[in-house]
Amino acid sequence: MSVTGVAVLGATGSIGRSAAQVLERFPERFRVTGLVARSNTAELVRQAEQFRAGITITTDPEKFRELRGALSPSLPCAAGWDPVLELVTAPETDIVLCAIVGTGGLEPVLAALRAGKRVALASKEVLVLAGEVVERTLDASPQAELIPVDSEHSAIFQCLCGRKRAELKTIYLTASGGAFRDWPRERLASATPEDALAHPTWNMGPKVTIDSASLMNKALEMIEARHLFRARPEQIEVLIHPQSIVHSMVELTDSGCIAQLSRPDMRFAIQYALTFPDRVDGGLPELDFRKLLHLDLRLPEPGRYPALDFARAAMRAGGTLPGVLNAANEVAVERFRKGEIRFPSIWEIVGRTMEHHRVEPQQELETIRAADAWARQFAAELQVP
Ligand code: MG
Repeated sequence: MSVTGVAVLGATGSIGRSAAQVLERFPERFRVTGLVARSNTAELVRQAEQFRAGITITTDPEKFRELRGALSPSLPCAAGWDPVLELVTAPETDIVLCAIVGTGGLEPVLAALRAGKRVALASKEVLVLAGEVVERTLDASPQAELIPVDSEHSAIFQCLCGRKRAELKTIYLTASGGAFRDWPRERLASATPEDALAHPTWNMGPKVTIDSASLMNKALEMIEARHLFRARPEQIEVLIHPQSIVHSMVELTDSGCIAQLSRPDMRFAIQYALTFPDRVDGGLPELDFRKLLHLDLRLPEPGRYPALDFARAAMRAGGTLPGVLNAANEVAVERFRKGEIRFPSIWEIVGRTMEHHRVEPQQELETIRAADAWARQFAAELQVP
């Protein structure tokens, strides 16, 4: 078997660290061609030494001296975004795992797709901001592959494997409901960041955990699903599923449903994106059927989650509106974490920013970036309770 070269962007975050656990199970199968992170130099160096990474990159030039000083002299390192673009298009890189939080993944992912690489995509923002650009890039680069690393989208990808696109009737994205699933609505105004960070089933980074509580995470995932599976907005539904065992499902034209089940552990989606089309034993935990497996699945209460309505509006309008939803939400989550606004104001900020945006078509990255910057400023200045 030939060795597959893997570059990990966002190596020190929650997904990146899970990816390291997957990669270390298969030293004969994968070689780490590069590791990229921004600020956690200690963890970046730990992984670089463990995998003897081809190159280790900090995207923050101010961290370069610290990185160079901590890393073995025999291991190359660099700083900034240009070396990242070199890494993702290099002949020795076969798979680019992109798990950068925020919008930094956009250019490397497009560059990797243009170079015909497999992109294992965990960064939702890439498809939310530039889903139409990604679709066009994929169509123009027949060798390139885009494989989702979000658990829901990995599930849908697995359910649709080998099926014709015309056979898809509905995508059912499952949602745990987040930390406030069982809270009465009127209590949400008093929710603290600590409350929002107490996720019932998944252990993830802080931004995505708060997004789970507001269901903004599901909103981003609806947009993501639309582009990954070329679905129409009305084909995408959300089901509240507190156990996080059914990672998502599809309904096909004959009204049969296919679901994918596993323990809630990101290593499943990461491993599958790396080994696809093979399924291999990576020592991942099995479902325990000695205990009664109880699965609840229901449509969300109408009106309870404004985030889902925002996603539908963003998908219908397309262009720059999905990116505006994302940018406004990032700012609102930061304002909530700093104690500046109440939890329900996250929705208010996103909704009002979207209302005030003049939608433009998704042509150049410049247009997308300009809309992103406009939305960030608007959301930061908006006065809310
Ligand atoms: Mg997810």
